Amino acid sequence: MADPLRTHFRRQQAKRLNREIKYGILSEKSSPERIADALEPNHEGMCDDCLSIAADVTPRQQVNQICRGLAERGIVKRAQVTCPVCGRQKLVNLPLSQGMQPSASADRNDVPALLDQYRRKIVDVLNRIEDKTGNREGIATRAARLREDKKLPSAVACMMLTLNSLRNLVVYEGFVPGRHELAVIEAAWASIEHWRDVSIKEGK
Ligand SMILES: [Zn+2]
Repeated sequence: MADPLRTHFRRQQAKRLNREIKYGILSEKSSPERIADALEPNHEGMCDDCLSIAADVTPRQQVNQICRGLAERGIVKRAQVTCPVCGRQKLVNLPLSQGMQPSASADRNDVPALLDQYRRKIVDVLNRIEDKTGNREGIATRAARLREDKKLPSAVACMMLTLNSLRNLVVYEGFVPGRHELAVIEAAWASIEHWRDVSIKEGK
């Protein structure tokens, strides 16, 4: 018995998986990471039901559990408002603005702040490449697309994905990087910064 809708979603899923493998985006992402990716470009947030579909995380109770954890850690705020995706009055997960944190305070003892600072710098580099600020794509998708368009070298895109993945692990899953991971974080940013300084003209 063929369900056309289910077949359609299966095909979409297979296409996405191929794309992710082709462009080196981690396809074996954990549920919290997929939720983080789904929430990242949606500043107005989403209810648990919509997030379950967008992040491809089931059962819905798992989404509920992860989001309550994110709320406890002050990463999202859960508020009874109209969900911008389904339009129903529900408990919506609103990402709390990372941009409100002072960037100058980042040091080695404050790894999440350091990673958020690098993340903002990466977004700044991407914005300089294509003069686009109101982009709703996440960093991973955007870097993969620019790499495909030959606007971003594969190695630089790879460093961006590495920093982005580590940042999500630290911020959303409470991962504590050791000295080797910290070395990778510093070196990955140094590599991106070097490419930026030699390849992108200031004020382009
Ligand atoms: Zn919704």
